[in-house]
Amino acid sequence: MAIGIYKITHTESGRVYVGCSVNITERCRIHVYDLNNCVHHSRRLQEDWDAYGAAAFVFAAVETVSSAGLLREREQAHLTASRPYYNGSLVSGYKVKPNRIDMTDQRFNILTVISEAPKAGARERRYWNCICDCGRSCVVSQDNLKHGGVKSCGCLQRKQQESGQRTHGGCGTVEHNTWASMLQRCRGTNPRSYKDYAGRGICVCLQWFDFPTFLKDMGARPSKHHSIERLDVNGNYEPGNCIWATKAVQANNTRGNRVIVHEVRSQTLAQWAAEVGMKPSTLRKRIEAGWPVGSALSIPVGLIKPGPRGRKR
Ligand SMILES: [Zn+2]
Repeated sequence: MAIGIYKITHTESGRVYVGCSVNITERCRIHVYDLNNCVHHSRRLQEDWDAYGAAAFVFAAVETVSSAGLLREREQAHLTASRPYYNGSLVSGYKVKPNRIDMTDQRFNILTVISEAPKAGARERRYWNCICDCGRSCVVSQDNLKHGGVKSCGCLQRKQQESGQRTHGGCGTVEHNTWASMLQRCRGTNPRSYKDYAGRGICVCLQWFDFPTFLKDMGARPSKHHSIERLDVNGNYEPGNCIWATKAVQANNTRGNRVIVHEVRSQTLAQWAAEVGMKPSTLRKRIEAGWPVGSALSIPVGLIKPGPRGRKR
């Protein structure tokens, strides 16, 4: 077990990596392992390893020291002298940050990271739960995400294999677009929709991550005036809580819509306005101006001009 400084040299170009360890043999074995698995922290070294192969490199101890306390000082001397091309920094003690990164919400190709999955394998590699743009979920190793070894749940390859054949039989249809934007809203990656969806805990039920199931449950959109609507605005996107609805129905069902109680009946402002044949905006102005509900609903429009107080909103 040698304590000291070692070099990894690409014999053809003379490019060098300098390192130090309390166990040079073991440290070099880990370098080889990482390089063979395409996860070495030095991108440059990895690229040359991939291009030229293991046989193009020489591992050698260049100096042994009597105690670990001397390692940094001696490593720095070698870094300064040889300015190694493969090192990320020429400062001794520079450590590539350990893999404590949080990848949640990051996107890699068509995958969005949802959460961390349990570590796996002998070297305890990190894995992440991802959701693919196609709606399927999958577990991908951090290395595969970062280096692009895995770009999708597998649907991209399938698409290629089927060479142009539609995977869902629905790509590009309005139903598919509705489904895709529903997933997008609930994924929580868009700050604009976050507060209305993911931020309120509204999610898409698991079976609807699959487009054909969504289409089977919802059916085709009846007309271009319809869009997807949740009956319980605090509920999830799931069978039983979703319908294709027109704009008028949706207006009755927004969170902000005021419920007005009059003569023991309670209806939304939009519904009362329709019942008495008044524009919802007129009724809203009257209520906000402090009119009693009975008068607001019964006095014909134009009969009373709202005064300065009434104009105030
Ligand atoms: Zn996919």
